[in-house]
Amino acid sequence: MTPDLTSYDSIIVAVSGGKDGTACLLALLEAGAPKDRLELWHHEVDGQGPSFMDWPSTSPYVSALAADFGLPLYRAWREGGFEREMLRKDAPTAPVLFESPEGLIRAGGQGPNGTRLRFPQVSASLTTRWCSSVTKIDVADRALRGQERFLNRRTLFVTGERAEESPSRARYAAFEPHRTDTRHGTRRRRHVDHWRPVHQWSEAQVWDSLKRWNVMPALPYRIGFSRLSCATCIFGDARQFATIRWLDPARFERLVQYEQQFGCTIKRTVSLEQIAEQGRPYAAALAAPELARACLSARPIPTVFTPAWETPAGAFGQGGGPT
Ligand code: SF4
Repeated sequence: MTPDLTSYDSIIVAVSGGKDGTACLLALLEAGAPKDRLELWHHEVDGQGPSFMDWPSTSPYVSALAADFGLPLYRAWREGGFEREMLRKDAPTAPVLFESPEGLIRAGGQGPNGTRLRFPQVSASLTTRWCSSVTKIDVADRALRGQERFLNRRTLFVTGERAEESPSRARYAAFEPHRTDTRHGTRRRRHVDHWRPVHQWSEAQVWDSLKRWNVMPALPYRIGFSRLSCATCIFGDARQFATIRWLDPARFERLVQYEQQFGCTIKRTVSLEQIAEQGRPYAAALAAPELARACLSARPIPTVFTPAWETPAGAFGQGGGPT
């Protein structure tokens, strides 16, 4: 079911640079969403610090996507990103910073104190797998709650989870009130609906939509990665980590060092080194080392439109995990 898109004052699309968020934007445009109410939000996993988990090429890709479609892009992040949260010791979770039409706003960071000193653990629970909530979900919530412009207005928040990805995602509603909705409240009333327009889509439908619009998939898909956002996603498999070890040995080594320091590996029963040993780098990456290096570059990307659309090497792959 497509909600009445003209009934909203703002339509926010969360884009990670991944195919599903991009497909959401395209689905909205195809459904006739009023363009002057559309905006893109990008949640930066590494908090605008040095690249630790995410691809350096993602931020320029998202910028090009927004520019190509003539849409405003607002970035938001948790100070220090994934790494600072992982290293938290008797300290509160860091504040969130978010861009808005009024400029950069800072929120949160008051506590309570807590300690992580370990990677998020692979789990369906967002508490154990804290990275999605700390670096994305809660960041978006704070940006929604922290802006007066959403009060007494109707906002549609759009994300790209698909049922096909995992049993827990299959249980998500395609349409529901968003967590930040306060439509029945007495003060600071805010109507926010959450829509997942591609929830029932197959992966083939997602790629078809990018193809219809000649939108080039983000670079990591072209060297064999099947999922974005993080390059070193905790759900990564042997081939993914073997590719990262080949492509960016310094990053891989940092993760290995952290696993040793924490005495707890990402996957608990095996170390990253053991996982990487079990796989070989993606053939597409080995065959295109320049393209692979471009994934690690934050250089501006002139456009996401491509005249010669090709299904990327990572399509229909096995790389697992939510974002
Ligand atoms: S892509 Fe993976 S590591 Fe990154 S935030 Fe999502 S689940 Fe966590």
